[in-house]
Amino acid sequence: MAEMKGIHRRRLMATAGLTALAAPFAARGSAHAADDETMAQAEGPRTDSFPLGDFKLVVVEDGSRVMENPGETFGTGQAPEAVGALLEENFLPADKMVNGFAPVLVDTGEQTILFDTGMGPAGRSWGAGRLIEGLKANGYQPGDIDVVVITHMHGDHINGLMEEVGPAFPNARYVFGDKEYAFWSDESRMGTPAEGGHESVKKLIVPLVDKATFIKGGDTVAPGITAIEAFGHTPGHMVFMLESGGRKLLLTADTANHYVLSLQRPDWQVRFDMDKDMAAATRKQVFDMVAEERIPFLGYHMPFPSVGYVEKTDQGYVFMPKTYQFRL
Ligand SMILES: [Zn+2]
Repeated sequence: MAEMKGIHRRRLMATAGLTALAAPFAARGSAHAADDETMAQAEGPRTDSFPLGDFKLVVVEDGSRVMENPGETFGTGQAPEAVGALLEENFLPADKMVNGFAPVLVDTGEQTILFDTGMGPAGRSWGAGRLIEGLKANGYQPGDIDVVVITHMHGDHINGLMEEVGPAFPNARYVFGDKEYAFWSDESRMGTPAEGGHESVKKLIVPLVDKATFIKGGDTVAPGITAIEAFGHTPGHMVFMLESGGRKLLLTADTANHYVLSLQRPDWQVRFDMDKDMAAATRKQVFDMVAEERIPFLGYHMPFPSVGYVEKTDQGYVFMPKTYQFRL
Protein backbone atom coordinates (compact mmCIF):
# COMPACT_ATOMS: atom_id res chain seq x y z
CA MET A 1 0.00 0.00 0.00
CA ALA A 2 2.67 2.49 1.00
CA GLU A 3 4.69 1.53 -2.04
CA MET A 4 1.77 2.14 -4.38
CA LYS A 5 1.28 5.57 -2.93
CA GLY A 6 4.94 6.32 -3.50
CA ILE A 7 4.80 5.24 -7.12
CA HIS A 8 1.65 7.24 -7.61
CA ARG A 9 3.26 10.34 -6.19
CA ARG A 10 6.41 9.96 -8.24
CA ARG A 11 4.32 9.70 -11.36
CA LEU A 12 2.51 12.86 -10.36
CA MET A 13 5.80 14.62 -9.72
CA ALA A 14 7.00 13.61 -13.15
CA THR A 15 3.90 14.71 -15.02
CA ALA A 16 2.47 17.64 -13.11
CA GLY A 17 4.46 20.81 -12.79
CA LEU A 18 1.94 21.98 -10.24
CA THR A 19 2.94 19.36 -7.68
CA ALA A 20 5.60 21.56 -6.18
CA LEU A 21 3.05 24.29 -5.65
CA ALA A 22 0.49 21.91 -4.22
CA ALA A 23 2.95 20.27 -1.82
CA PRO A 24 2.80 22.85 0.99
CA PHE A 25 -0.97 22.38 1.26
CA ALA A 26 -0.79 18.61 1.07
CA ALA A 27 1.80 18.67 3.86
CA ARG A 28 -0.95 19.20 6.43
CA GLY A 29 -2.29 15.65 6.06
CA SER A 30 -0.64 12.60 7.57
CA ALA A 31 -1.08 10.70 4.29
CA HIS A 32 1.45 13.09 2.82
CA ALA A 33 3.94 12.30 5.58
CA ALA A 34 3.61 8.61 4.67
CA ASP A 35 4.28 9.49 1.05
CA ASP A 36 7.38 11.42 2.05
CA GLU A 37 8.63 8.39 3.92
CA THR A 38 8.08 6.20 0.87
CA MET A 39 9.94 8.71 -1.26
CA ALA A 40 12.84 8.70 1.20
CA GLN A 41 12.91 4.88 1.16
CA ALA A 42 13.13 4.94 -2.62
CA GLU A 43 15.87 7.56 -2.64
CA GLY A 44 18.12 6.08 0.03
CA PRO A 45 19.07 7.67 3.34
CA ARG A 46 20.60 11.13 3.50
CA THR A 47 24.38 11.10 3.56
CA ASP A 48 27.03 13.79 3.69
CA SER A 49 30.68 13.46 2.80
CA PHE A 50 33.47 15.96 3.41
CA PRO A 51 37.24 16.01 3.88
CA LEU A 52 39.05 16.66 7.15
CA GLY A 53 42.70 17.11 6.24
CA ASP A 54 43.66 13.83 4.60
CA PHE A 55 40.68 12.00 6.10
CA LYS A 56 37.36 11.61 4.37
CA LEU A 57 34.21 11.51 6.49
CA VAL A 58 30.88 10.02 5.42
CA VAL A 59 27.93 10.73 7.71
CA VAL A 60 24.82 8.60 7.19
CA GLU A 61 21.36 9.30 8.54
CA ASP A 62 20.59 5.80 9.77
CA GLY A 63 17.08 6.95 10.63
CA SER A 64 15.10 9.51 12.57
CA ARG A 65 11.91 9.59 14.55
CA VAL A 66 9.48 12.07 15.98
CA MET A 67 9.32 12.16 19.77
CA GLU A 68 6.39 13.65 21.66
CA ASN A 69 6.81 16.01 24.61
CA PRO A 70 10.53 16.91 24.50
CA GLY A 71 10.27 18.14 28.11
CA GLU A 72 9.80 14.56 29.31
CA THR A 73 13.30 13.75 28.02
CA PHE A 74 15.25 17.04 28.15
CA GLY A 75 15.10 19.40 31.10
CA THR A 76 13.34 16.82 33.25
CA GLY A 77 13.89 18.84 36.43
CA GLN A 78 12.48 22.01 34.82
CA ALA A 79 8.93 23.33 34.53
CA PRO A 80 7.50 22.03 31.22
CA GLU A 81 6.70 25.65 30.29
CA ALA A 82 10.38 26.59 30.56
CA VAL A 83 11.37 23.79 28.17
CA GLY A 84 8.58 24.72 25.75
CA ALA A 85 9.49 28.41 25.88
CA LEU A 86 13.14 27.73 25.02
CA LEU A 87 12.09 25.57 22.07
CA GLU A 88 9.70 28.21 20.77
CA GLU A 89 12.30 30.92 21.18
CA ASN A 90 14.41 28.79 18.82
CA PHE A 91 11.63 28.42 16.24
CA LEU A 92 10.80 24.84 17.27
CA PRO A 93 7.45 23.42 18.38
CA ALA A 94 7.06 22.86 22.13
CA ASP A 95 5.25 19.54 21.89
CA LYS A 96 7.34 17.48 19.44
CA MET A 97 10.92 16.97 18.34
CA VAL A 98 12.87 14.96 15.79
CA ASN A 99 15.65 12.68 16.94
CA GLY A 100 18.04 11.35 14.29
CA PHE A 101 20.94 8.89 14.34
CA ALA A 102 24.20 9.67 12.57
CA PRO A 103 26.92 7.01 12.44
CA VAL A 104 30.06 8.22 10.65
CA LEU A 105 32.71 6.51 8.59
CA VAL A 106 36.24 7.91 8.70
CA ASP A 107 38.39 6.89 5.75
CA THR A 108 41.97 7.68 6.79
CA GLY A 109 43.40 6.53 3.46
CA GLU A 110 44.88 3.53 5.29
CA GLN A 111 41.80 2.22 7.06
CA THR A 112 38.04 2.67 6.97
CA ILE A 113 36.82 3.19 10.51
CA LEU A 114 33.14 3.25 11.40
CA PHE A 115 31.93 5.00 14.55
CA ASP A 116 28.68 3.43 15.82
CA THR A 117 26.26 1.36 13.81
CA GLY A 118 22.73 2.75 14.05
CA MET A 119 19.56 0.78 14.71
CA GLY A 120 20.26 -2.18 12.43
CA PRO A 121 17.47 -4.73 11.88
CA ALA A 122 15.70 -3.49 15.05
CA GLY A 123 14.91 -0.18 13.32
CA ARG A 124 13.79 -1.38 9.91
CA SER A 125 10.07 -1.62 10.76
CA TRP A 126 9.98 2.16 11.32
CA GLY A 127 12.37 3.21 8.56
CA ALA A 128 15.71 3.24 10.41
CA GLY A 129 18.62 0.82 10.16
CA ARG A 130 19.80 2.34 6.88
CA LEU A 131 23.50 2.76 7.62
CA ILE A 132 24.70 0.06 5.20
CA GLU A 133 22.50 1.43 2.43
CA GLY A 134 24.04 4.87 2.97
CA LEU A 135 27.59 3.51 3.02
CA LYS A 136 27.00 1.61 -0.22
CA ALA A 137 25.69 4.77 -1.87
CA ASN A 138 29.07 6.30 -1.03
CA GLY A 139 31.05 3.38 -2.44
CA TYR A 140 31.71 1.41 0.77
CA GLN A 141 30.58 -2.20 1.10
CA PRO A 142 30.12 -3.76 4.56
CA GLY A 143 33.21 -5.90 3.90
CA ASP A 144 35.32 -2.76 3.35
CA ILE A 145 35.03 -1.66 6.98
CA ASP A 146 38.32 -2.37 8.80
CA VAL A 147 37.42 -1.15 12.28
CA VAL A 148 34.13 -0.53 14.08
CA VAL A 149 34.42 1.77 17.10
CA ILE A 150 31.55 1.90 19.59
CA THR A 151 31.23 5.15 21.56
CA HIS A 152 28.89 3.55 24.11
CA MET A 153 26.57 0.58 24.28
CA HIS A 154 23.05 2.01 23.95
CA GLY A 155 20.84 0.26 21.39
CA ASP A 156 20.81 3.07 18.82
CA HIS A 157 24.62 2.75 18.60
CA ILE A 158 25.10 -1.03 18.71
CA ASN A 159 22.01 -2.64 17.15
CA GLY A 160 23.58 -2.32 13.71
CA LEU A 161 26.55 -4.54 14.67
CA MET A 162 24.55 -7.64 13.75
CA GLU A 163 22.36 -8.55 10.82
CA GLU A 164 20.11 -11.64 10.96
CA VAL A 165 22.87 -13.68 9.32
CA GLY A 166 25.71 -12.57 11.61
CA PRO A 167 28.12 -9.65 11.96
CA ALA A 168 27.11 -6.75 9.71
CA PHE A 169 30.75 -5.86 8.95
CA PRO A 170 32.32 -9.27 8.32
CA ASN A 171 35.97 -8.19 8.00
CA ALA A 172 36.06 -5.66 10.81
CA ARG A 173 37.84 -5.70 14.11
CA TYR A 174 36.23 -3.81 16.96
CA VAL A 175 37.16 -1.13 19.44
CA PHE A 176 35.13 -1.00 22.64
CA GLY A 177 35.54 1.12 25.77
CA ASP A 178 36.96 -0.94 28.59
CA LYS A 179 34.79 0.61 31.28
CA GLU A 180 31.64 0.60 29.13
CA TYR A 181 31.98 -3.09 28.34
CA ALA A 182 32.72 -3.98 31.97
CA PHE A 183 29.52 -2.23 33.08
CA TRP A 184 27.07 -3.69 30.56
CA SER A 185 28.49 -7.20 30.42
CA ASP A 186 28.36 -7.62 34.21
CA GLU A 187 25.78 -10.22 35.24
CA SER A 188 24.86 -8.12 38.27
CA ARG A 189 22.93 -5.80 35.89
CA MET A 190 20.18 -8.44 35.95
CA GLY A 191 17.16 -7.17 37.86
CA THR A 192 18.26 -3.50 37.51
CA PRO A 193 17.13 -0.84 34.99
CA ALA A 194 20.23 -1.81 32.95
CA GLU A 195 18.99 -5.37 32.44
CA GLY A 196 17.76 -4.72 28.89
CA GLY A 197 21.09 -3.16 27.96
CA HIS A 198 22.93 -6.09 29.51
CA GLU A 199 20.87 -8.54 27.42
CA SER A 200 21.63 -6.55 24.24
CA VAL A 201 25.34 -6.49 24.97
CA LYS A 202 25.32 -10.27 25.49
CA LYS A 203 23.65 -10.70 22.11
CA LEU A 204 25.51 -8.04 20.07
CA ILE A 205 28.91 -7.38 21.69
CA VAL A 206 29.94 -10.55 23.51
CA PRO A 207 30.09 -12.62 20.29
CA LEU A 208 32.62 -10.09 18.91
CA VAL A 209 35.06 -9.83 21.81
CA ASP A 210 37.60 -12.18 20.17
CA LYS A 211 38.09 -9.53 17.50
CA ALA A 212 37.99 -6.57 19.89
CA THR A 213 40.46 -4.19 21.47
CA PHE A 214 39.40 -2.57 24.74
CA ILE A 215 40.45 1.03 25.21
CA LYS A 216 40.47 3.81 27.78
CA GLY A 217 40.85 7.58 27.53
CA GLY A 218 44.04 8.71 25.78
CA ASP A 219 44.31 5.54 23.70
CA THR A 220 44.73 5.82 19.95
CA VAL A 221 42.38 4.05 17.55
CA ALA A 222 44.51 4.88 14.50
CA PRO A 223 47.06 7.64 13.81
CA GLY A 224 45.17 10.91 14.39
CA ILE A 225 42.22 9.36 16.24
CA THR A 226 42.31 9.57 20.04
CA ALA A 227 39.74 8.45 22.61
CA ILE A 228 38.69 10.85 25.38
CA GLU A 229 36.66 9.76 28.40
CA ALA A 230 33.32 11.55 28.55
CA PHE A 231 31.46 9.56 31.21
CA GLY A 232 27.95 10.31 32.44
CA HIS A 233 25.57 9.56 29.59
CA THR A 234 26.69 5.98 30.23
CA PRO A 235 29.38 4.78 32.67
CA GLY A 236 32.03 4.45 29.95
CA HIS A 237 30.87 6.84 27.20
CA MET A 238 33.79 7.97 24.98
CA VAL A 239 34.31 10.78 22.48
CA PHE A 240 36.99 10.82 19.79
CA MET A 241 39.28 13.56 18.54
CA LEU A 242 40.09 13.36 14.83
CA GLU A 243 43.20 15.20 13.64
CA SER A 244 44.53 15.24 10.11
CA GLY A 245 46.47 17.70 8.01
CA GLY A 246 46.17 20.41 10.66
CA ARG A 247 42.37 20.00 10.90
CA LYS A 248 40.48 18.75 13.93
CA LEU A 249 36.98 17.51 14.60
CA LEU A 250 35.56 16.05 17.80
CA LEU A 251 33.10 13.16 17.58
CA THR A 252 31.00 13.98 20.64
CA ALA A 253 28.65 10.97 20.35
CA ASP A 254 25.88 11.43 22.97
CA THR A 255 27.50 14.13 25.10
CA ALA A 256 24.67 16.50 24.06
CA ASN A 257 21.56 15.11 22.43
CA HIS A 258 19.41 18.09 21.48
CA TYR A 259 20.96 21.00 19.65
CA VAL A 260 18.93 23.55 21.60
CA LEU A 261 17.93 21.97 24.91
CA SER A 262 21.25 20.26 25.69
CA LEU A 263 23.58 22.89 24.27
CA GLN A 264 21.86 26.10 25.34
CA ARG A 265 21.15 24.61 28.79
CA PRO A 266 23.91 22.04 29.40
CA ASP A 267 22.95 21.80 33.09
CA TRP A 268 19.43 20.59 32.33
CA GLN A 269 18.93 16.95 33.16
CA VAL A 270 18.33 14.40 30.43
CA ARG A 271 16.32 11.25 31.01
CA PHE A 272 18.77 9.11 29.00
CA ASP A 273 21.84 10.27 30.95
CA MET A 274 22.54 7.50 33.43
CA ASP A 275 24.51 9.74 35.82
CA LYS A 276 22.80 13.08 35.31
CA ASP A 277 25.21 15.29 37.25
CA MET A 278 28.29 13.70 35.74
CA ALA A 279 26.76 13.96 32.25
CA ALA A 280 26.10 17.70 32.74
CA ALA A 281 29.65 18.30 34.00
CA THR A 282 31.05 16.33 31.04
CA ARG A 283 28.85 18.26 28.62
CA LYS A 284 30.31 21.55 29.83
CA GLN A 285 33.85 20.25 29.79
CA VAL A 286 33.58 18.87 26.26
CA PHE A 287 31.77 21.84 24.74
CA ASP A 288 33.96 24.38 26.54
CA MET A 289 36.84 22.72 24.73
CA VAL A 290 34.99 22.73 21.38
CA ALA A 291 34.15 26.42 21.86
CA GLU A 292 37.62 27.43 23.05
CA GLU A 293 39.45 25.58 20.30
CA ARG A 294 36.89 26.76 17.73
CA ILE A 295 36.81 23.27 16.25
CA PRO A 296 33.87 21.52 14.60
CA PHE A 297 32.12 18.60 16.26
CA LEU A 298 29.85 15.82 15.09
CA GLY A 299 27.08 14.81 17.51
CA TYR A 300 25.23 11.56 16.87
CA HIS A 301 21.81 13.13 17.53
CA MET A 302 22.45 16.63 16.16
CA PRO A 303 20.34 17.74 13.17
CA PHE A 304 21.67 16.03 10.04
CA PRO A 305 24.44 16.18 8.82
CA SER A 306 25.11 16.50 12.55
CA VAL A 307 28.23 18.65 12.24
CA GLY A 308 28.67 22.16 13.54
CA TYR A 309 30.40 24.57 15.85
CA VAL A 310 29.38 26.10 19.16
CA GLU A 311 29.60 29.62 20.42
CA LYS A 312 29.73 30.01 24.19
CA THR A 313 27.01 32.12 25.84
CA ASP A 314 26.47 32.94 29.55
CA GLN A 315 24.23 29.91 30.05
CA GLY A 316 25.62 27.41 27.56
CA TYR A 317 26.31 27.25 23.84
CA VAL A 318 24.64 28.09 20.56
CA PHE A 319 24.88 25.49 17.79
CA MET A 320 26.03 26.68 14.38
CA PRO A 321 25.60 24.02 11.68
CA LYS A 322 28.43 23.57 9.20
CA THR A 323 28.09 25.05 5.75
CA TYR A 324 30.97 25.15 3.26
CA GLN A 325 33.94 25.32 5.69
CA PHE A 326 35.26 21.88 4.81
CA ARG A 327 35.35 22.52 1.08
CA LEU A 328 37.76 25.45 1.35
ZN1 LIG B 1 22.26 7.71 21.23
